[in-house]
Amino acid sequence: MPSTARLPEELTEEYARTLDQADELAPFRERFAIPQRNGTPVVYLCGHSLGLMPKDAPAAIAQELDAWARLGVEGHFHAPRPWFSYHREVSAALAELLGALPHEVVAMNSLTVNLHLLLASFYQPRGQRRKILLEHFPFPSDLYVAQTHVRWHGLDPQDVLELLAPRPGEATLRTEDICRRIEELGEELALVFMSGVHYYTGQRFDVEAITAAAHRAGALAGFDLAHAIGNVELRLHDWEVDFAAWCSYKYLNSGPGGVGGIFVHERHGLDPGRFRLGGWWGTPESVRFQLLEEFSPAPGAEGWQLSNAPILPLAVHRVALRLFQEAGPERLYRKRERLTAYAQRWIDYVRSRLPAAPLRVITPPPPERGAQLSLLVERDGGKLYSALQEANIVVDWREPNVIRLAPVPLYNSFADLYRFGQALLQAAHVLWG
Ligand SMILES: *Cc1c(COP(=O)(O)O)cnc(C)c1O
Repeated sequence: MPSTARLPEELTEEYARTLDQADELAPFRERFAIPQRNGTPVVYLCGHSLGLMPKDAPAAIAQELDAWARLGVEGHFHAPRPWFSYHREVSAALAELLGALPHEVVAMNSLTVNLHLLLASFYQPRGQRRKILLEHFPFPSDLYVAQTHVRWHGLDPQDVLELLAPRPGEATLRTEDICRRIEELGEELALVFMSGVHYYTGQRFDVEAITAAAHRAGALAGFDLAHAIGNVELRLHDWEVDFAAWCSYKYLNSGPGGVGGIFVHERHGLDPGRFRLGGWWGTPESVRFQLLEEFSPAPGAEGWQLSNAPILPLAVHRVALRLFQEAGPERLYRKRERLTAYAQRWIDYVRSRLPAAPLRVITPPPPERGAQLSLLVERDGGKLYSALQEANIVVDWREPNVIRLAPVPLYNSFADLYRFGQALLQAAHVLWG
């Protein structure tokens, strides 16, 4: 077994604890429930998949249940936070994380549902302009959304979907290649539909450059921000992104199946001519209880709402987002950089100690990444994953050969990464020593 004595000083447990003591965000860890095994908190590095529960969540739900119990239907207007406009409780916090204006944002539905609603509005093939550019290996749901919209317009996904692959021998895409492909597609391109941070490789795409390239080609650009919101800096309004959607259960810590959300740039949101699938909750508040002859949308992203909002998940969302406001996104992003660099240092160290270990980080270095590192394991990946599990390190495994881990600045510590690094080193010794 490797001995601690030979570790470089910055990787020792004492050093990790010193970093935690100096970390002004360290107290936020106490605001989350950290899962335990046999009475010991696990090292939870799976915030990219399901963020941890803020301890404020149960009381936030209880407050709405209490309002329901006391007020019944009156809660719509007389609950402490009236349900009629409850979705607005989260708009400012979401807008801050997205770099959006509050009326460009609304929390509603779930991610895949929202992608369908947005493609109904923003994928409108006309003549030759009908192609959709996606990244190679998109998240399955995003691919299915694109395929089915293409079919719905009577087109063939084989002809219309362009999945852009990295260069041979490379794991991730180059921005220049994405922009060049957009330019080549030119007048055939209707839409660029990509993720903000890729779920498998952890690559953070240059949303600003990609959007500008799409617009130069006369196309629109929309992004799935599932792995980006709450993780990386976004300026959707200034970057002139056309639309975006996300889920709230990953970095936003708003609970399994939590309420998703959309961004629609005001250029489209304030254009009543832009097609929307209609529902009563998308009409202006002043007429919502009237029987209009025809659907007429509220201005802004709220005009895409269909149904009255799910108050219980929104209550969790509200208190989860409050933690971002308290901590300050800038400070969180700075800590994210340091934590992820520390995790990478440990991986580099393990590779230097065990050159035969078939391990490689495929996530690009900053600024092309957020919190996540994707560790490609060419052999025995399943065994390495099991060994980490046994050491109470919670990461995840993505077929065919990647272990994903994401230190989350709101609740992970440098000491967590010390435990991760030690477990990785010991497992690597057993497997490849
Ligand atoms: C997590 C994730 C989803 C999940 O979709 P749901 O509708 O919330 O189940 C979809 N797309 C991407 C890119 C994701 O990362």
